[in-house]
This record gives sequence, structure tokens and C-alpha cells, in this order.
Amino acid sequence: KPEQPVVAEDWTRFVNEPDTDWSLPHNAQWIESVLRNWKDRCDTLDTGSGEVRESTDPSRPEVVVCRYSVPTLADVETAVETATAAQSEWGQTSLQHRHDLLRRVAQNLRERRGDLIAAMVADGGKTVLEADPEVSEAIDFCEFYPLTVDHWHRQSAIKLEPRGNVAVVTPWNFPLAIPCGGIAAALAAGNCVLLKPASETVLVAWHLCQAFWDAGVPKDVLQFLPCAGRVAEAGLVKNPQIETVILTGGTSTAKRMLSVRSDLHLLAETGGKNATIVTSMADRDLAVKHVVQSAFGHSGQKCSATSLLLLENDVFDDKTFREMLADAVSSIRVGSSWDLSTKMGPLIKPPQAELNQGLKSLEDDESWLVIPEHIVDNPNLYRPGVKWNIRPGSFTHLTELFGPVLGVMRFSRLEEAIEIVRSTGYGLTSGLESLDDREITLWRDSVHAGNLYINRPTTGAIVLRQPFGGVGLSAYGPGVKAGGPHYVLPLMRVTDGKPAV
Ligand code: GLU
Repeated sequence: KPEQPVVAEDWTRFVNEPDTDWSLPHNAQWIESVLRNWKDRCDTLDTGSGEVRESTDPSRPEVVVCRYSVPTLADVETAVETATAAQSEWGQTSLQHRHDLLRRVAQNLRERRGDLIAAMVADGGKTVLEADPEVSEAIDFCEFYPLTVDHWHRQSAIKLEPRGNVAVVTPWNFPLAIPCGGIAAALAAGNCVLLKPASETVLVAWHLCQAFWDAGVPKDVLQFLPCAGRVAEAGLVKNPQIETVILTGGTSTAKRMLSVRSDLHLLAETGGKNATIVTSMADRDLAVKHVVQSAFGHSGQKCSATSLLLLENDVFDDKTFREMLADAVSSIRVGSSWDLSTKMGPLIKPPQAELNQGLKSLEDDESWLVIPEHIVDNPNLYRPGVKWNIRPGSFTHLTELFGPVLGVMRFSRLEEAIEIVRSTGYGLTSGLESLDDREITLWRDSVHAGNLYINRPTTGAIVLRQPFGGVGLSAYGPGVKAGGPHYVLPLMRVTDGKPAV
């Protein structure tokens, strides 16, 4: 049995960190002054012995916000050796100790909320409104996961041990909360962590790691490796000293990792092609509000975003609904993320491949309800677009675009709409707008997705309330959900406590 007593708190009574209340004038003034101090800032990070790279501001692509030296393969290999050497001592620390450390990390994040928001604006192009809840989520992860490790230790008649080194590979769209979640879960479970952040948002990940190190997490136990993707593949994914990888990224990245290392213990949250279904029993005003938020928050660059809108025939043919949707989308204020009134900031980079095609081309009977225009002067800045009358099986139906394009399709029966959702192969989030209990039950029992949302947006999952994770092409591995009580389990090894004979 594990050491007792550990954390004397029940995870079911966990209380989430509140977001900033922007209706209070002093909060708006506070963030304005923080942003003013950050606008001309350029950090230099000594993070490896390789070449120096520059990271730019998506709102002002000519502005460099940080320079960092890239770790080489030799640096990464040394880091893994160091972690391996540190693992035994770290794995033997008490959970109480790790919980205390993570609570201190949470406090650091709380105290640095303004700087973390500013780093996300500068390096990730996030608006303040989108960046603020990320800080809350990051704090929640640090405070929540140790409670769940404690829970599993107490519940089981078995012994749970750390698994050892965990590589955490993270995306640019949630540059703070997603790496924080992976790190906090792995550390709480007693593992050493090697963080490989997205190259677009190294500055944010660096500030995150500072919060851990300043709290007392040893530098050998959490290492920061903003290396190139091919170096991460050779030095982390293929490295026999690493068994576990936590990935949030594309489906193709997860497949690639498994193809280069078939015995990898991979926990991956991958893509999505998420739909919101609006039936004739919906509150249509509310549906418009929820869909606009789900489709265009952070310019549609969320795995959880709604990118398909399925309308029952009479909603599709309702001219008032169509106009309401077009007006709501056209009136989104698009611009620089440094401007507090901006609702939709820039893309992380100019649209490429699928997104480029999705923004520019139409198939068959498709038309633009709202044209996704490029805004001159910044190659990253696009107005949101709505593609009307897409067909089942079309490019826009099946392809994850990860940008500000919403495809609208008609359907006749709810069962048909559920099948259209299933046929994407993905299954991350799904939304239903209906006030009819029978429809809600039918949909809930048969829709193919990890996170189901009824009469609310499909984005913005909150720790414990909506553990986040998908099915089908949206997840690889044990299928545990981030921010839920089971997430830490696959980061530990179950033994019966007796030596093997
Ligand atoms: N957890 C986020 C949300 O619920 C999405 C994370 C992602 O895009 O990977 O909106």
C-alpha cells in the first residue's frame, strides 16, 4: 500500500479557478497596462546548443517576440539521461510533497496571470478573452490531478508506481493549458517530464516551465526541449528510455509516432471534425449564439470547434435564421489580439493546404453565406466564413480545416444527422440544439463523440465538469479524458506490490 496520509481532499469537491471578470473596469485597466509593458518586449531564451530561432507575433508578423536556441539531438539525449537518473528519487517523493509543489505552481500561475495572458497574445495570437480561461484551466490541472492520484492510491488494493519518463508534446492553440495539464498529471503520478512545446509558442511554454521551476520542481525532473520535430522523433519518441508520450496534435502525428515506435505507450488527443445539430425544436436565437462562439473562438483553431452546422430542413429554409447567422458572423470584430475589443484575432500563420482550400474553393451547389475575406496588411488575418449547402461526403464535410470556416448542411431526420456526424471518422465534441427531450435522448444515446454538449457551445471544457477527450480518429491510447479523474491512471503502473519470482 502507498504511504498514508496523503492528500486529505476529495476530488469530487474540487472547486475550479474563476476567470477574470472583465466587466469590472479595474480588470480591463490592469490588463491594458500589462499588455502595454509587453508590446515591445523580446525575450532571449538559452534553451539549447543549436541554432537560434525567432518566434513572431501573429498579430504583427514582422515583430519578433522571442529568440531561442534550439536543442540538438545530443542535447535531447542528455536531457533524457538526466531525467532517467532523477526518476528514482522523484518517484519516491511522497504524494503530499508533489501536491504541495503543484499547489505552489498553481499559486505562481495565479500571481502571473497577466504576464501569461500577455505571452499568449504576443506569441500565440490569442485574444485576451480566449487567453484568460487558459490560465484558469492550467491552475485547475495543477490542483486537481494530485487529488486523483491520491484517490486511486487509496481506493485500490493494488500498488501504483510511476511509469518513468514522460514526453509531453503539445500544440500552439492552447499553449499554456495543454502543456500544463500534461506536465501536472505526469508529475503528480511521480514521473519525470520532457516537454516538447510547439515551435510557434515556445515563449508561452517557457513562462509555464518557469512557474514549475520557481515553485521548486527540480530542473532535472521537468526539462524544456523546444527542439525540431525530427529531433523529438529521434531523441524522445524512439528513445527506449521513454515509454510514455502524451500528445495533443494532429491525427497524422499520432499515427506517425506509432509507426516509428510500435510499443509506445501513447496517450493522444488528436483532431476533430465537430458538428452542431440544430433541429426544428431548437431555440434558434440561442443556437446562433452558441454556434458562432463554437466555430470562431480563437479563429476556429480548436480541436473542439464546431466546423459543421447541420440544420433540419425547416431551419435550413428559414430565411430569418439564415440572416441571423450571417449577421452574427459578419459582425464579429476581427483584428489584432492586442486590442481588447477584438473578438477574433489572427491565425497562427497564413493558411496552408486544407485550410487554404477550405477558405477559397466551393464544390457542387455550395455558396458563401459569408465570404471569409483576407484582411490586407497581415497574411494571418481573415474574416470568418460560412459555406452554405455542403453535401455529405464533400471536402468540407470530411476535412478538419482548423480555421474560421463553418460548413452548413441540411438534413431531414435526426438519425440521418447523427450518421453524417459519424461518417467523418472523428469523434471529439458534438453539439445538439434542441429543447425536445426525446431528441436529446436519441442523440445522446447514439452520437459518436467524446464530449457531448446540449444547448451550449462545443468549446471551453472545464476541469472535472467536462473531462475532455474523444473517440475514433480523435484519440489514441487508453481513452482517458484530460481534466477527469482517470487521466492519471495510465501514467502509473499497477503492481501487486510483491517482487516477481
Ligand atoms: N479543451 C479545449 C476546449 O474544450 C480544446 C482543446 C484543443 O483544442 O485541443 O475547447
